Amino acid sequence: MRIDLHTHSSVSDGTDAPAALVAVARASGLDVVALTDHDTTAGWAAAEAARPKGLTLIPGMEMSCRWLPPGERPVSVHLLAYLFDPRHPGFAAERARLREERLSRAERIVDALEVGGHRVSWQQIVADRDGGVVGRPHIARALVAAGAVDSVDHAFATLLHHSSPFYVAKADTDVLTAIALVRAAGGVPVFAHGLATKRGRVVGDDAIAAMAAAGLLGLEVDHPDHRPDERAHLRGLAEDLGLLVTGSSDYHGDNKATAIGAEVTAPEQLEALLVAGTGSAPYQD
Ligand code: AMP
Ligand code: FE
Ligand code: FE
Ligand code: ZN
Repeated sequence: MRIDLHTHSSVSDGTDAPAALVAVARASGLDVVALTDHDTTAGWAAAEAARPKGLTLIPGMEMSCRWLPPGERPVSVHLLAYLFDPRHPGFAAERARLREERLSRAERIVDALEVGGHRVSWQQIVADRDGGVVGRPHIARALVAAGAVDSVDHAFATLLHHSSPFYVAKADTDVLTAIALVRAAGGVPVFAHGLATKRGRVVGDDAIAAMAAAGLLGLEVDHPDHRPDERAHLRGLAEDLGLLVTGSSDYHGDNKATAIGAEVTAPEQLEALLVAGTGSAPYQD
């Protein structure tokens, strides 16, 4: 059994349409794939409609959150959520707020860029989102199209960098609130790439313990951005806190070099996740 529980399609910041993503998953020899776009479930239906025979599709999402250490700057964290009921009113309202927040924040970045002499097409950004959410990748592609930068990477390293004068932060969900919402919707919350120091500031063990107390059910341990020592530390925490352990590629199509299935989850961990998730069913034959 080959199981990859973290992938992104074109409805967030991947490059494969949901239908293409499930085909790529099967062609790469996966038996189980989870679709976990940022802050949206917009890809679920198209992925299920195109799901090849023999592939199990786990409906999921990756939520943009913040950990708020007392007296310190918030730390950006990502929470994977699986098998939740997309109609749960409280959780659906929070996703709607996040999508609206992403739109208004993108507008503010685009306005600031224009004042700074970097004009991009809002029309193009909205068309590029493929029915899903907008983020900096869409603005980056519009900047490339406008000739303001020569690549998406260049845009992220300069005009869209979090230290750029054009950068605008978004008001992400408090991770403890997010965990409670996912559980209320029958879902399984798993802390994504929790110790990936190459991505920036990470939280301490105290934060992970607080998340576990709030209802967190798993830690993503095997992730391309985790070093061996970071994986070992997380594995120990999962053992201590009684959390399940996942491994995943965080596939983004052509936007990142990692292949789908590059990291995988053990079958017994998937079994535990399927038992815990009661808000929606996996799509399978
Ligand atoms: P946002 O959530 O709108 O702030 O945008 C951050 C997203 O951009 C993350 O989900 C990353 O996957 C993506 N990202 C970060 N750096 C790059 C890059 N150099 N090229 C393409 N996508 C990137
Ligand atoms: Fe992403
Ligand atoms: Fe993430
Ligand atoms: Zn991701």
